[in-house]
Amino acid sequence: MRVYSDHYNVVVCGGGPSGIAAAVAAARMGAKTALVERYGIVGGMMTSGYVNPILGSVSQGTMYDEIIQLLGATGMKTRNGWEMSVDAEEAKYRLLRFVEEAGVDIFLQTPIVEVQKNDRSVTGIRIGTQEGLKTLYADVTVDATGDGFVAARAGASFQIGRDADGLCQPATLEFVVGPVDEEKAITCWGGTDPVRLPDGTPYVEFCAQANARGELPENVAVVRLHRTGWPGERSINATQVNGCNTLSPEGALDAELELRRQVESIVRFLRKYVPGYEESRLKGSGSTLGVRESRRIMGDYILQDADVENGNVQKDAIVHKAWFLIDIHNPKGSGQAEGHSHPAKPYDIPYRCLLPKGVEGMLTCGRCISGTHRAHASYRVMGICLATGQAAGVAAALAAQRGVTPRALPAEAVQKALTESGVKLFD
Ligand SMILES: Cc1cc2nc3c(=O)[nH]c(=O)nc-3n(C[C@H](O)[C@H](O)[C@H](O)COP(=O)(O)OP(=O)(O)OC[C@H]3O[C@@H](n4cnc5c(N)ncnc54)[C@H](O)[C@@H]3O)c2cc1C
Repeated sequence: MRVYSDHYNVVVCGGGPSGIAAAVAAARMGAKTALVERYGIVGGMMTSGYVNPILGSVSQGTMYDEIIQLLGATGMKTRNGWEMSVDAEEAKYRLLRFVEEAGVDIFLQTPIVEVQKNDRSVTGIRIGTQEGLKTLYADVTVDATGDGFVAARAGASFQIGRDADGLCQPATLEFVVGPVDEEKAITCWGGTDPVRLPDGTPYVEFCAQANARGELPENVAVVRLHRTGWPGERSINATQVNGCNTLSPEGALDAELELRRQVESIVRFLRKYVPGYEESRLKGSGSTLGVRESRRIMGDYILQDADVENGNVQKDAIVHKAWFLIDIHNPKGSGQAEGHSHPAKPYDIPYRCLLPKGVEGMLTCGRCISGTHRAHASYRVMGICLATGQAAGVAAALAAQRGVTPRALPAEAVQKALTESGVKLFD
């Protein structure tokens, strides 16, 4: 019988891509590690949000490579780079086993409700269990909640949305349809995909016309159609709600209702008009709406637009050659915020981006790390979140071993441990 403790070297908050990588990396470093997740599965957006494919690339030797192999992800090269298709249903069990086999104590169905603090130092978290509220003490706490919930409750400063108006990228609910006729059914990776329907009609224009006729929801300019890894299925990333506050229960409900209404309308559109989709129906959808953007926890360094655009190298790099487009789904309307996604060059993510300013004893990873709105639009993808998670896990384990706060840990020590585990951090 499993008997869990109430004190760990490392407590990782949230079991999404970054939290999984952080927990496994910390446990492999010998740290007694807990992973705390509010849902009954791990995987975060990849499983509970049905987000597919894994996008973004990093240098060789990170946990990204391992996860791609574990999930049997299959690749296709587009303007988005390598799109690695995964099956959300298969991923649920494989990811859970991956974490469990690393020796991590996994707390499922366990919401984190508050942080435990001593002055500016985080000493653990408060969790909701069937026996009431409990405290899990941690030498080092890692915030992998996506929303930066733990760091924000600890008093770290954060930013939400773009500078001009505070608006965030829209929320979306992803879903899968099938069967589709592979002889005719196209795929489409985005609003600049030149793909045509079998009769030669440009598909993006076709969607725009349907939108103008009111046969697609107001802000849905293009219905993106991705492969799932299985023939006869498509993963659809198209619904969108703008301007909602997904951090409030009222906002989350309104968005969820609207997104599920849009799913029905998009399935009708596909069946009625798109060749190869006539027999398709809704096969599955995320069990929660997907939040692209909420809090960005401000750290000792804020990753800048220019770092991503110019491919800047950082002395304290803990992720090397991170690459994805600056992909800003329009916070105020359809399509892309700046007309189209913008190029990026392979860039470094410094250790300082994982250290929340003004708070000790903790690290961030995944989409809530420190960066500008535009830099976030690149590093938020799952491929890069896996790598920041792995680095945070290694750093947390090292800090716990040495009995120091992560801020006092030299970045070189994290780099050395990552390099020894096979991560290529330097050219
Ligand atoms: C609609 C949409 C489409 C996207 N498309 C792509 C794509 O095609 N490819 C790609 O690579 N990326 C895509 N992304 C981005 C990517 O999915 C996320 O940015 C990424 O999953 C973030 O990883 P994470 O580990 O930081 O957070 P998440 O994946 O959000 O995981 C956070 C975890 O923390 C848990 N958690 C949160 N709060 C608490 C709490 N209080 N107590 C306990 N547990 C908690 C959550 O339940 C969740 O499991 C998309 C995102 C969205 C929303």
